[in-house]
Amino acid sequence: MDYLPVFLRLERQPVVVVGGGAVAARKVSGLLKAGAHVTVIAPAVQAQLAAQAARHELRHIAATFSPEHLDAAVAVIAATDDATVNGAVSDAAQERRIPVNVVDDARLSTFIFPAIIDRSPILVAVSSAGQAPVLARRIRAQIEALLPSRLGTLARFMGERRRAVQRALGAIARRRFWERIVSGPVAERVLAGDESGAAHAFGRELLTARVTAAPAEGGSGLGEVYLIGAGPGDPDLLTLRALQLLQQADVILYDRLVSPQVLERARRDAELIFVGKSHSEPGQQERIHELLLHHARAGKRVARLKGGDPFVFGRGGEELEALAAHDIPCTVVPGVTAALGAAAGAMLPLTHRRLAHSVTFVNGHQDEDGAVRDWRFFADPQHTVVFYMGLASLPEIVARLRAAGAGRDHPAALIAHATLPGQQIVRGTLADILPLARARQLAPPALLIVGNVAAFAATADAFGFTATAGTPALAAGALA
Ligand code: SAH
Repeated sequence: MDYLPVFLRLERQPVVVVGGGAVAARKVSGLLKAGAHVTVIAPAVQAQLAAQAARHELRHIAATFSPEHLDAAVAVIAATDDATVNGAVSDAAQERRIPVNVVDDARLSTFIFPAIIDRSPILVAVSSAGQAPVLARRIRAQIEALLPSRLGTLARFMGERRRAVQRALGAIARRRFWERIVSGPVAERVLAGDESGAAHAFGRELLTARVTAAPAEGGSGLGEVYLIGAGPGDPDLLTLRALQLLQQADVILYDRLVSPQVLERARRDAELIFVGKSHSEPGQQERIHELLLHHARAGKRVARLKGGDPFVFGRGGEELEALAAHDIPCTVVPGVTAALGAAAGAMLPLTHRRLAHSVTFVNGHQDEDGAVRDWRFFADPQHTVVFYMGLASLPEIVARLRAAGAGRDHPAALIAHATLPGQQIVRGTLADILPLARARQLAPPALLIVGNVAAFAATADAFGFTATAGTPALAAGALA
């Protein structure tokens, strides 16, 4: 981060504004809204500032700037159109370690003003760190459109009742209660302007919550588990439901395949527990079951976050069995499985009317029980096969496909880190995919896709299509 976003309390604090024009007036009105005691330093001021001075809403010192003007200030804003004056204000402020903002000059400033959406007490601030103010304003406009106009009223309505709820309910029950309030009829009424109806409904909700909360911790009894697919890595590929539940979860158990970008979207104060398994850790799956049960029994909402989809090579089924055996409620949220992410990232359709009519997802890890014995179907190029976890055993997979009848020219593609910034695509055939993969030093996670469709992406490159993620240019390089 280039800047730390904070909200400054300026109530009755002395702030100096140097300059008396329209820009200064705009800054002054923001400062007055925040309750600051504003002093304007300028030989002359425009009409609005003059009127505010006459009404004693601010103090005007009719003078050119000199450093002593900063003596008591907690912050200073330079809003003149004279670069020398602005520079002098910046120097004097920094010498005194007073935060300074020079309008439209991030270099001379120690703090900057964000674009804001004001639904006080709800405030949203947007900043591009001075790099793209137009973009920041555009984002502000989009958020403006999203947020109901009575949001501030709702926040105040809740604020007025915080103490009462705190007395009535324990911590966990409390949070659930507030979540019901913000997403239920009480909030709807406030936002529709019916505050007395809302107050009435609120009273009923609180009564119900007191009756149903279990005694212990204000204990809300049994928790629940959300088995959530995190998708292949790009956080924009999370489902809306995954996002909602990640915002609600108290505890999040996540795998090695869950990208940091996805974890960024989780609730800030959720407890994050890494449970990334490797094959060398026997008993890890059982430990995960124990953790799930432990936190759910403590009344927590537990998100079990898995790469891709929980039910595709994710052992989600086993976790579901463990939870069901102990009557823990569970919600399953599907995710974009790696094969689909990789197919989109590499612009490679898994089925195509001319090229393939079926697709199979196979565990490429060869030594597991229940591995597929007969590979003849996989050797048909009209059938798409996606091997998960196959990078380490790539030589064996290629050999088995060849033994089952696949030709040397059978198209094959490897896609590593699909949908992530480091996505790599290597395309070739069963004859050369191995040396190509070695030359490019592909690292897991990666998928192998074989069949006619694996050659399709080359066509896409020729037409100059762009993939939603990844680096088609690199892929073309691999072919050259
Ligand atoms: N449940 C997951 C799969 C877990 S198995 C899903 O539905 O996607 C782990 C394997 O998934 C890895 O070995 C790799 O083959 C594949 N994989 C997961 N994420 C991937 C990614 N971003 N790019 C390529 N392959 C990935």
